[in-house]
Order: sequence, then structure tokens, then C-alpha cells
Amino acid sequence: MSYAVAEIAFQKSISPDCQTRYGIDQVLTVCPESHDLLDVHYDWDRVPVPSSLKEFEKRWMTRHNPLDYSGVWRFRELLPFAPDDQIVTIGEGQTYLQKCDPVAKYVGMKPGQLFLQYEGLNPSGSFKDNGMTAASTHARMVGAKMTACASTGNTSASLAIYAGVSGHFRCVVFVGSGKISYGKLSQALDYGAVTIQIRGDFDDALQQVRAVCEQQNIYLCNSVNPFRLEGQKSIMYRVLEGLGWEVPDWIVVPGGNLGNSSAFGKAFLELKQLGLIDRIPRLAVINASGANTLYELYEHQGLRWNNGRPQKELVDSFYRDMDARNHRADTLASAIEINRPVNLKKCLRALDACNGVVREVTDEEILDAKAQVGAGGFGCEPASGASVAGAKMLRQQGIIAPSDRVVCILTGHQLKDPTATVGYHSDAAAEEAQKLAKRGIVTRPYQNGPIVVDNDLAQILEVIGRVG
Ligand SMILES: *Cc1c(COP(=O)(O)O)cnc(C)c1O
Repeated sequence: MSYAVAEIAFQKSISPDCQTRYGIDQVLTVCPESHDLLDVHYDWDRVPVPSSLKEFEKRWMTRHNPLDYSGVWRFRELLPFAPDDQIVTIGEGQTYLQKCDPVAKYVGMKPGQLFLQYEGLNPSGSFKDNGMTAASTHARMVGAKMTACASTGNTSASLAIYAGVSGHFRCVVFVGSGKISYGKLSQALDYGAVTIQIRGDFDDALQQVRAVCEQQNIYLCNSVNPFRLEGQKSIMYRVLEGLGWEVPDWIVVPGGNLGNSSAFGKAFLELKQLGLIDRIPRLAVINASGANTLYELYEHQGLRWNNGRPQKELVDSFYRDMDARNHRADTLASAIEINRPVNLKKCLRALDACNGVVREVTDEEILDAKAQVGAGGFGCEPASGASVAGAKMLRQQGIIAPSDRVVCILTGHQLKDPTATVGYHSDAAAEEAQKLAKRGIVTRPYQNGPIVVDNDLAQILEVIGRVG
């Protein structure tokens, strides 16, 4: 790149009432003036952005360059905060937009209209790598020696992999003591992260890690880090690429800490501003009903972006009430088991830009949708099933039309949480089945359990004859 990054990129509060700018070399997670979330801004007039998104296809021919190979950095003019020689990449973002007719049928869409953006194919098995490559790059730019995050599992797996391979910094990850799946925990341990398991849940772990980072000058890699969201914008660039640069009608995404939905909104706002797309798709953010803060606030209490001045008292009283009842997030979809989404305000901006809707789906709807995604040939972890379950609900409500073009984001790989999958399909996994039953999940219409037979050829042939 032929320009000095510091001249074109800066950080600024998302609050319209605060105009203070901070350099790209500053390590901040909230604006010291407004105490609001920070965004990375660009002086687009000085960035050599291609005149058409199609131009990015040229990089397919220069894949030997790791930056052109990366599904994040081959769009680097759209997140131009890092000099090329500082970028930390491990080939993230080799992900796939796949038409999936069996899932279209399940959701109630016409064939050919439903697409799955399979982010489980990332190096650590979830979409988090799109953001972590960007945060790791910034950590390297500012010379951080230690990084940290709180996690329901995937953020720690992702940070641990980047810390492990980059060699520029180490990491410490904070996880709750509850529902982290072994698939995710094993990654943090195996990649050598210092792993601290707090007796508490994700919301507790995040509070602690923010305090630790502030006191110890450790670089924080949760999605309050604005650079993470810059990387996650690329998921939408690849969706557009998969559709021949056409804008779909709907993007449907699970909502946890709301970093992804916030990043998607920012991506589309910028592309529109740059004249690279002519319209913005609608956005549907799907909560689990056991962790439905956004749904309650947005759909029932009327909380809105409101030109950057959302009704703060609505949020405050919601959290006060939650605390008074000692209400804790509770869902089998552990990656979205979050009651205090840190990117709430940015997500409101995304919903505003994308004429968005929010829905909540039950664990039963999530697991059924997950099983259908699996049967359609793509595996995903429970949280990802929320996007398909949400699309189905919006179709039934007539908000999504059968002929709309819909993209559901599959946020994490099936192997992240095999216990949940086997528990759904197999009665033999009695303990898991009991957990489901406790949540009222007994029918499991898409159950596909193992058939147990004696070590006897005649019996095996008899069974095969029955199913074939
Ligand atoms: C982190 C995560 C989510 C939630 O994404 P947010 O950006 O926090 O809303 C959903 N699914 C999976 C698999 C995740 O790892």
C-alpha cells in the first residue's frame, strides 16, 4: 500500500456527541471522553479503494501472497488500518457460501434461495478468526507482549491459535466454569494459552478480564476491541463475492455479544458510502430465548439507535431488573449464552442501517435446525443453528418471502460441540438426553441415532435390509 496508515485511519467514539479522534496506535476499548464504544474510521478519500468489488477477484491469481490468500486481507483496502508487513495471517476466511436446498425446504424457501455461509471452515473452526487476525495485527502494531480475552470458548480458541502461531505475543484466556464445550476448551489448552477458569459465567469473565487488562496493560481481544470488527466485516464481502457481487435480501445471524451483527452493519454502510453496492440487505439477529436481551429491548421495549442516542434508561433499567432477579443467561447454545452484549449499541446502528429485526428461538428450535443443517451436508454447532431456526420463524411470520434470497451465517463448526450433537441423536447418551428432557426437548424429530447390533452378520444384514 502506498500511503501511511496513520494518515487515513483513526479511532472515534460511536457517539455523535463526541468528536474526539484517537490515533490508530492507541490501545483503547472505550472512548476516554464519552465512555462509549470505539469505531475505526477511515478517510476514504485517501484510500485507493477499487472502483468495483469485482476488482478484488484479481487477487485469486496471486494467492501465493499470504495476504491475497487470506479471506480477510485480500479485501485489505476495505480495512486499511495496518501496514502490509505487520499483518498476522494464517489463511483465515477460506469459507464458503453454499446454496442448500434441503435447508431451504426446511425453512420454507423456494429452491435456490437459501444460502449457508460456512464460517466453521476457519483455522480454529469458527468465524472468530476473521476478527482475531485483525486484532492480532493491531496487537503486533502496538507492540503488545500479552493479550487476553474472556470467552464462551471460540474466542479463546481463536486467540490461542493466533498467539501460538504468530510468536509476537502470548495470551491468557478467561472462561466460565459452566458450559464450555470440550472441543473449545481443548483448543485453548492445546495451543498453549494460559487458561483461567472463573467460577462464574461469561458475563462475569468478561468483567474480570476488562479489569485485568486495564490494570496490567494487557491487550484485550474481546469484541469490544474495534479492530476485531474490522476483520469480521470480511464475512459480508465473501457473501457478496459468493453471489457474484449481488446483494442478498436477508442476512440472518445468531446474536451473542453482537460483534458480528455490528460488523456486518458497518461493512454495508461503508460499501454503500463508497458506492460499491447500491442497496443494503435486511439483517435478522437471532437470540436464544434463554439469552434474549437484544430481543426484549429491541422488539418489546422499542430500543432504537435513534441517531446515535439510544434510550439509555431502557437499557439501564433492564439490567437493573435482571440483577435484582439474579437472572442468568441459560441456553444449550453456549456461544450465545450472554446477557450483557457489549456491542449492543453498535448492533442497534446495524439494525437501523439494515432495517433489521430481532427474534428469539428456543433451544428445541435451535437443535432441530442444527440437525437439518447437518442432514443438509453441513455440520454446525448449536449457536449456529439459531440462524436457520430464525429464518424459519421469519418465513412462517411472512416477514421473509419464499422467493427472497437469504443467507444464514453458520458461525461455528460441528466438531466444536460433539456432546450436544450426540445427545440430540442418540438415546444411549443418557445423561445428555436427560439434559434435553429437563428443557422439555423430548420429541427430537430429526433424531438419527446409532443402531446397536450384536456382533453377528445375519443381524447386521437384517438391519441393513430394513433401512436400505
Ligand atoms: C461468538 C459466537 C457467536 C456470537 O457472535 P457475536 O458476535 O458475539 O454475536 C455465535 N456463534 C458462534 C459459534 C460463536 O462462536
